[in-house]
Parts: sequence; structure tokens; C-alpha cells
Amino acid sequence: MSLFVTRFAPSPTGHLHVGGARTALFCWAFAQRKKLDGNDGRFMIRIEDTDQARSSDESARGILDDLAWLGITWDDGPVLKNFGAAAATIGGDSRNVGPYFQAQRLDIYNAYIEHLVRLGRAYPAFETSAEQDADRKAAAAKKQTYKYPRPADVQLGVFNEARWARAVAGEAHVVRFVMPRAEIRVQDEILGEVKFASGEVDDFVIRKQDGFPTYHFAVVIDDELMGVTHVLRAQEHLINTPKHVALQGALTRLPPGLGARGHPGEAFRVPAFAHLPLIFNLDGTKMSKRDKAKTARKALKDLMAKDASLTPASLAQTLGVDGALLQGFIDADNDSLDIAQIVAAHFKIALPEIEVWDYRKSGYLSHAITNFLSLLGWSTGAKDAEGKDIEKFDNAFLAAHFALDRIGKTAAKFDRVKLLSFNADAIAALSDADFSRELFAWADEWEPDFARALRSTPDARRAVLFSACKARCKTLRDAIKVMEFALVSDEAMPFDPVAMQKAALLAGGAGRAPVESFGAMLRSSPAPLSAADVDAWIKQYADTNQRKMGEVAQPLRVALTGTVVSPPLGDVAAVLGREGSLRRIERCLAH
Ligand code: GLU
Repeated sequence: MSLFVTRFAPSPTGHLHVGGARTALFCWAFAQRKKLDGNDGRFMIRIEDTDQARSSDESARGILDDLAWLGITWDDGPVLKNFGAAAATIGGDSRNVGPYFQAQRLDIYNAYIEHLVRLGRAYPAFETSAEQDADRKAAAAKKQTYKYPRPADVQLGVFNEARWARAVAGEAHVVRFVMPRAEIRVQDEILGEVKFASGEVDDFVIRKQDGFPTYHFAVVIDDELMGVTHVLRAQEHLINTPKHVALQGALTRLPPGLGARGHPGEAFRVPAFAHLPLIFNLDGTKMSKRDKAKTARKALKDLMAKDASLTPASLAQTLGVDGALLQGFIDADNDSLDIAQIVAAHFKIALPEIEVWDYRKSGYLSHAITNFLSLLGWSTGAKDAEGKDIEKFDNAFLAAHFALDRIGKTAAKFDRVKLLSFNADAIAALSDADFSRELFAWADEWEPDFARALRSTPDARRAVLFSACKARCKTLRDAIKVMEFALVSDEAMPFDPVAMQKAALLAGGAGRAPVESFGAMLRSSPAPLSAADVDAWIKQYADTNQRKMGEVAQPLRVALTGTVVSPPLGDVAAVLGREGSLRRIERCLAH
């Protein structure tokens, strides 16, 4: 039995992006598969909160909550208490390698920084940012990437005591790594061997001026001390990997106590790397939060084009946002997510879903999302009876079939239409009881008024309603519109005057007749009302009276729902029942 440890290491600077969720899902599936194979597979979460200005506890909590909601639970990592209906506790520190928030590990990083400096593999650097800006600009002018030139007094393997003394005395500095001048080869489980030429990477910063380690340094220390064996992450990180491999080559273990485990002097291991294919929009652009700004910007521009009285200044006032910020947003100088959200809320514009949170809010089922995400860059390799690739499966199936060698190299396309159809199918496939549970859970979280209306609907009507409407909801949010007709009381349902007029005028002003006849039928036959009976009645009435189906169905629809759009009439009448339907018909006729 071997130990396999994967980790998902989000930076808590916002919501969980669907790309991050895909990474987490694959890390989870890898560890689960190892468990199924009889090994000790562990999936761990580490919160990379070294960017103090951008990190927040709230974001970390939100990310953990989204992961748990997706069913991606972790063996080790921050503890999430009271999750879900079962009030579960997720996470913990069974291997004693925490804490899992990097901001709580500064003493560990500092010890290793000093260790590297004394080995002559790192050094304090004192240039001001203004000095470097000038060099950066000069490089840009020559169309070159700026590379920090190693100072003449720095030599690989030689402890620079003078620099260290200045740093210890309190002079502002960063610490840089002495990047070995040699080609670096990264063995990637998906991409094969990737070579980085000597000199491609400069002496990069490993500790910032604020005393926090950079991402590169903290990742390498933590992956080692936390026993990570497999690093699965997005391909955009491939460019960072030579830095990590170089650091791993330079570092050795300090005595236990600082992150425990291991033997002092032992060299850091290079974990197995698997860089996952990028995720693109269908149009080939990178899928990012910016897509929201783009959509809101386009909507604003369309509005201004239509209505000359709308100016950036007037809009800023209407929206209650800073004028300069809004102007910048319209000119695409900034992609403020706040502005995008304010614009969307005010003008009722749907922004593209990018984060797991967006999809939750829109009423997607977690297992439809994980099913869809699984197929972004991975395929099951399993065939159905007709020999087609199996595409619909749950997380357990993913875990049982997961293997790195079925991950592709090329970018995956994020097809929103496909995701929506996965979701619609997943909703339609729910049992009535599961649909009810999912819908209530969703409504309680996002639309409490809707949840209240559902609860105050009589049980019998609600049961028929759920079973009749399930297949018409592509998302749980769709249920608000689809079920609207049944959630108002029969006595209070409003009749849309335009719809009433249209319906009455049908068939040369004879729109009232089928409503009266339907009412008479309801009064005279005692059997419970089924959707099939109602459909048969409409057909028969239309045949007998030589009317088009619509000339019968539309007036009835208005009578039963107050509007011209609703689920099929048979379902509507069955949901309302004989009594309810009659009450509405009588009110309609009285109108
Ligand atoms: N904190 C990094 C991120 O959010 C993690 C990268 C890695 O997995 O090494 O992108």
C-alpha cells in the first residue's frame, strides 16, 4: 500500500472558478481511484493566502463550501463544519502536516529562506521598484522580457554575509533565488518531457518586501512538507514549474518541528506533475471573469446607442457608482466585476456564469456540473451498449475510471449549451422526491419567497405540480416561472387583461364557449382529473365544434392560468384539480 497525495491549492481572492473546480475534481478523483485500488489515496486542500491585500476568509469559506456542494470532499485541510443537511464536518489534519492556511506558516517559510540564504542559494536584493521600473521599460522598448540581472557580488553556493546583515538590520529588501544556469527538464504525466533553456528564468523573488513568501516558494515548501506526491494543476502553471523544480533541487529538509516529518538534510522530492488542458470559451477566448464585464459593457453600449439621453455621467448617477470608474468600464480600461454586477442587477441582464457560485445561483445541479467538468479534457474510455463513449455518469463513476493517461493535451471547449442540456437531463432524471429535495434546498438558499410560496401550496397540489413540471425545468430557477400558475391561490390569481381580451375574441368572438363547456364537464363528471382526460376533451371539443386546437386551448389556458404561456393544459388542470380548475373558470367567466 503506497501513499498518494494530491492537493488543490486555491488562492482565496474570489469565488471558485469552474476551471478551479475541474482541477479540484481531478485531484479528488485521482486520490479516490488510488483508494479504490487499495492504496492510501489522500486529497488535500491548502489555502494560498499569501497575497494579503487580495485574500479574504470569506472567499476561502465560499470556495470550501462550493467544493463540498460539488461533492468534492477533502481528507486533509481546513475544517468546514456543519455542511449540508447532514451537518457534516469536512477536513482535518490526520497526517499532522497543517496548518493549511499559508498565512499561518510564515515561520516555516522564513526558516527555509534563511536556510537557502546560508547555502548561498538565495540572497536579499535591495533595488527599489522605481529602479526596476526603468529597467523594465528599457526591456519593453527593446521588445524583450525583463530579466533581473544577477548582481556581481552574488555567487551560487556562496553565502553572502554582507547582504544578509543589511537585511537583518532592517533594510527594505526582497529575497531572490539563485537560479542555476542549466537547462531544466520537467517530466509531465500528460505533456511528456518539457524543456526550459538555461537562462530562461531569472533570479526570481521568493520572499516579498512585506515578509510573505511568493507563491513559488510557499508551494514548493508546502508540497514537500505536506507530502504531496502528485501535482495536478492547470496548464497555465506550466511556466512556473521550472522555478519549482529548481527550488526543489536546491532545498533540503530542516529538522522536524518546522512542518514535522522527514529527516534533516534529506533532499526535497520532485512530485509527479500533470498539467491539465486549458479551458476556453467556444470562440477560443480564455474563459475568465472578464467575460462578465464584457457582457455588461456591451449591454450598456447598446442601451446608450438606443437612447441618446443616456450618458456615462447619467448612468453613473442612476447606478450610484463613481463616474470615472464607470467611464473607464465603458471604455474597457477596467473590467470591474462590481460594476458588471450592478449593471446586471439594475438592467436585469444575465451575465455569463463563470464561477461555481453563478451556477448554483442559476439552479444547476451539482452532479450535472461535475459530470460536465469531468469531460473537459478527460474521457471515460468506457463505451455504452451501442459502442458510444459514456458521457453521463456520477462522481463515483469518475473516481472508478479516472486515470491520467486519458487526459488530453489540447485545450477543452466550455460548451454552455451542452452544460445546460446536461442539467436539464439531470433534473428530468430525478425522482419526484429528489426533485423536491433539490428544489427546496435551492429555493431556501437563493429565492426564499419562492420557497415560502412552495411550502404554502397544499401538499397534494404540490406533488402533482412537481411531477408535471420537472421535465420543463432546464434549471431549478426555471421552476419559478414554470410553476407560477399554481402558486397563487385560485381566488387571487390575476387575469392578464390583454390575454383575456385576445382569448375572448378567438374564433370570431366565441372564445368564451369552450371555457363554459369545460366548466360544465368538470361539474358533471366526478372522476379525478387526469392530464390525458383533459387533452382528450380539448381534442374532442375542437373536432365536434370545428375549431382549431388553439382556439380551444388558449381561452382555457387564460382561464386556468391568467396568461397565455403555461405548461401543457392537461398538466395545468391536473395540478389545479377539479375544484381548483372550476374556481378559476368561474372567476374567469365572471370577469
Ligand atoms: N494558488 C494557485 C492558484 O490558485 C495554485 C497553483 C498550484 O496548484 O500550484 O492558481
